[in-house]
Amino acid sequence: MTVQNLSAELQLQFIGYIQRLVVEGDFSATYKFALLNALADICIETPQNGFSSKLEIPFNRIIEKMIQLYWDQASPFNTSNSETPNILYQNSASQVKIITTINKLKANGTHSFSLFLRAPVRIETIKSLLDSIKTGPIERLQTLSGQCDAFLYPIQFKSSASQSYSIVLNEGIADCFRKFYDLVIHIARNAWTKKVVSINKKKGILNNNPSVEAFLFSNDRMNLSSILPILTDIQSNKCFYCQKTISSSDESNVDHFIPFSRYSNDTAHNFVMAHARCNNSKSDYLAAFVHRDRWLQQNLDTYRRVIDEELKLHVHSDPDLTLAISNWAYSQASDINAKLWIAKNEYQTIKVNPYLDMVAE
Ligand SMILES: [Zn+2]
Repeated sequence: MTVQNLSAELQLQFIGYIQRLVVEGDFSATYKFALLNALADICIETPQNGFSSKLEIPFNRIIEKMIQLYWDQASPFNTSNSETPNILYQNSASQVKIITTINKLKANGTHSFSLFLRAPVRIETIKSLLDSIKTGPIERLQTLSGQCDAFLYPIQFKSSASQSYSIVLNEGIADCFRKFYDLVIHIARNAWTKKVVSINKKKGILNNNPSVEAFLFSNDRMNLSSILPILTDIQSNKCFYCQKTISSSDESNVDHFIPFSRYSNDTAHNFVMAHARCNNSKSDYLAAFVHRDRWLQQNLDTYRRVIDEELKLHVHSDPDLTLAISNWAYSQASDINAKLWIAKNEYQTIKVNPYLDMVAE
C-alpha cells in the first residue's frame, strides 16, 4: 500500500480512532501518550521507499524512543512562583519507572540521551523497563471505554528466537502515522500536557498554569551555541541559505534544516548555520530543493563523518535517520502542496511524485 492509494476510509478511521484514544482511553499515567508519540516518531524515522505493508517495531526501539521523549522531562521543573524546583509526576500514584530510571542514569554520569545511546548500561536499562512498558502502555493503549479495539496493532506480539518482542502495525497504519504525523503529535502532546498539569495540581506541585508545555516539549534546554563553531568551520563562515559571508556585524543562528516545529527531536545532521535574518525568514517552512540538495551534499555526504564525530557528544547523531525524516517531510509537503522557502518572500511549490525524484515548479 502506498500513500497514494491509502484508502480514504482508512484515513478517516485512523483520525477517528486517535480522537477516541484520547477521550476514551484510561490514563492514570502519561505512558500512553508517550507511546503514541513514540509510534508516530518511529514511523517517520523508518526509511521507506513508498511501499509499506505491516511495519514491525521491536519493543526495544519503542522503549528507547520513550526514554528519549522523557529524558528532559525527568529534570526538575522550575516555576517562577515556586521556591524549589520539582520533578513533575507523570502518574497519579507514585512516579513512573521511566523517570526514576532516567534520573538514576543521570546521577551515575549519563548526562545526555546521546551519551545514553552509547553507554554500556543501555541494554540492561531497556531490559529493566520492558515489563512495565509491555504490560502498561503497549498492552493497554488500545483499551477504549473498557474494551480492547486493536486497530493499530494486534495484542499478539511477535517474538524472535532471541526473545525480543515486537509489535506489528496493521496494514496501512504506518502510512497513516506518516500522513497525519503533525496531527497525532499535536493531539498526543496536548493531552500529555493536560495530564501532567492535572496530576501535579492534585499533588500540590503546580499551582497556577505555568508554561508546562514549553518545559515538556521545547528544545531550549539544549545549548545550540556549542554547535555553532563547528558549523561555521564547515560552511567557511558563509550563511547556508544566502551563501554570503557572515560579517562581524551579522547575527548568526543554528538552524534546524527540517524545522523543529515539524520534527522536534534534535539530530546532529539536521543543523546548519545561517544569518539570523535568513533563519527568521525561513521560519517553519521547508527549504526549497536548491537548499535541500546543498544540505544533502554538505551534511550527509561531504561532512557526514565530521558532523558525526564532532556533534555526537552534544546531540543524537544518526545520518540515516535524519535522511529518512527529510524524505518523509518532503513527501508530505508534496501531498499537501506545501510551499517551500527559497529566500525572503520567495517560495516554490512541489509538482508531483513524492517517492521518485521530486521536481519543483
Ligand atoms: Zn543568509
